[in-house]
Amino acid sequence: MYDVVVVGGGLSGLVAALEAKRNGSEVLILERSNELGGKLLLYSGESCQTKVGEYSKKCGDVLTGIINEIHSEGIEVMYGRHVEDIKKKEQFRIYTGLEYVDARAIVFATGTKDKTRFTLNIPGDRVSGVFTESMALELVADELIIGKNVAILSQNYEGINTAKMLLEHGISVLGVFEEKVEEKNVNLEIPVYYGARVTEIRGKGRVERIRVSIDGKSQWFSCDTLVISAGRIPNAKMFLKLKAEMLPSTKGPVVKGNMESSVTGIFACGSVVDANCDFDCALQQAKTAGKAAADFARR
Ligand SMILES: Cc1cc2nc3c(=O)[nH]c(=O)nc-3n(C[C@H](O)[C@H](O)[C@H](O)COP(=O)(O)OP(=O)(O)OC[C@H]3O[C@@H](n4cnc5c(N)ncnc54)[C@H](O)[C@@H]3O)c2cc1C
Repeated sequence: MYDVVVVGGGLSGLVAALEAKRNGSEVLILERSNELGGKLLLYSGESCQTKVGEYSKKCGDVLTGIINEIHSEGIEVMYGRHVEDIKKKEQFRIYTGLEYVDARAIVFATGTKDKTRFTLNIPGDRVSGVFTESMALELVADELIIGKNVAILSQNYEGINTAKMLLEHGISVLGVFEEKVEEKNVNLEIPVYYGARVTEIRGKGRVERIRVSIDGKSQWFSCDTLVISAGRIPNAKMFLKLKAEMLPSTKGPVVKGNMESSVTGIFACGSVVDANCDFDCALQQAKTAGKAAADFARR
C-alpha cells in the first residue's frame, strides 16, 4: 500500500511526487509510456519560457534536473502502466490492466490529448498520413520522416510553432492553414493562409489532397501528410468515470484550492485540470497537490 500514487510522469506528476515524498509519503508514479517527461519530451531542445527563474533554461535540462531529483529521493516509478480504472473502498485500488496497486491518495497528472480530425468533424477518406501535433512531434523527435509534403491545419495559431519545429527537423512543409483571420508576423519561410478551414481529406490509402476553404473560397492542395494542430483538451476520462464534478469551460475536473477534486482523496494538477496550464501553473499546482495528497494520506 502506497500513501500517494501519482498517475502520469510528465512535469506536473514528477513535481507532485517530489512534494508528496518530501512531506513524508511513500510515493509511486505510474506512467503509461516507457519514459518520464510527458509533453516536455516533445520540445526538450526549446528554451522553456517561464517566470520561475530557476527553470529559465532548455526544457530538456529542466526535465533532466527533475528526473534526477526523483531518483535521488528514491521515488518508485512503474513504466508501461496505463491506469484504466479506480475502485474506492477503504482506500483506492488502481488498475493497470490485470495488475493493481493500492493507495491512500491519488494525484492525477495525465496531461492533455490533442484534438483530432474526428473532434473537428472533417469528412473524407479514412487514410493514413493524418497526424495530431503530438504524434507528429513524437515521430520527428525520434528522427522519423512523417511525410514529404506536409500541410498543417492550425487553430489559434497553434500550427505556427508546429511548423517551426517540423522545419527545424528538416521536414518539408507546404503551408500552415490557420483558422484565425488576423495575420501575425510569424517569421516563417513557408506560406501561412489565414481565414482557412480544412473541409475535406482525400486519398487512396494515404492522404493525396485536402480541400481548404480560404476566405470562403474552396481550393484543393496536394499533400501526402496533414498535421492537425488544433489545441488540446484535458485527458480527464478517469474523472468522468469516477463521476467527478467537471468544469464545462475547461473540460477538466473541478478542483478546490488544495487541488482536490470532488472525489475525496483524488487530487489533480497541471494540464489535466486546464489544457492552457503552462509551466509555471503546472509547477504551482503540482506542489499544492503533492503536499495536499501527502496530508490526506497521513490522516
Ligand atoms: C508543443 C508544446 C509546447 C509548449 N510550450 C510551452 C512553453 O514554451 N512554456 C510553457 O510554460 N508551457 C509550454 N507548454 C505547456 C507545458 O508543456 C505544460 O504545461 C506541461 O508540460 C504539462 O505537464 P503535465 O505533466 O500536466 O502533462 P503532460 O506533460 O502531458 O504529462 C502527462 C503524462 O501522463 C501520462 N499519462 C496520461 N494518461 C495516463 C494514464 N491513464 N496512465 C498513466 N499515465 C498516463 C502521459 O504519458 C504523460 O507522461 C507547451 C506544450 C506543448 C504541447
